[in-house]
Amino acid sequence: MEKQQCARCGKQIEVDTSSGDYCSECAAKIRSELALSFQLKPVLPWLRKRSARLPFVTLALVVLNVAVYLFISQSLSAVLEM
Ligand SMILES: [Zn+2]
Repeated sequence: MEKQQCARCGKQIEVDTSSGDYCSECAAKIRSELALSFQLKPVLPWLRKRSARLPFVTLALVVLNVAVYLFISQSLSAVLEM
């Protein structure tokens, strides 16, 4: 049986394995890491987007509050002057 080194840990492995260039341990590790990264992949950009958009949303809410306050106080003083 032909032998080669595991591309990750350098252990001697048989070329005939189904995991290609890696020994069975490293192949299992790589598989679980891939699964983890696939699980985290949709969450991380979403979180980054949320946190990047948060100050803008807060700013927009503050501006809206000020606008509503100014509008109400203006119409109130208009009512009071009548
Ligand atoms: Zn290995």
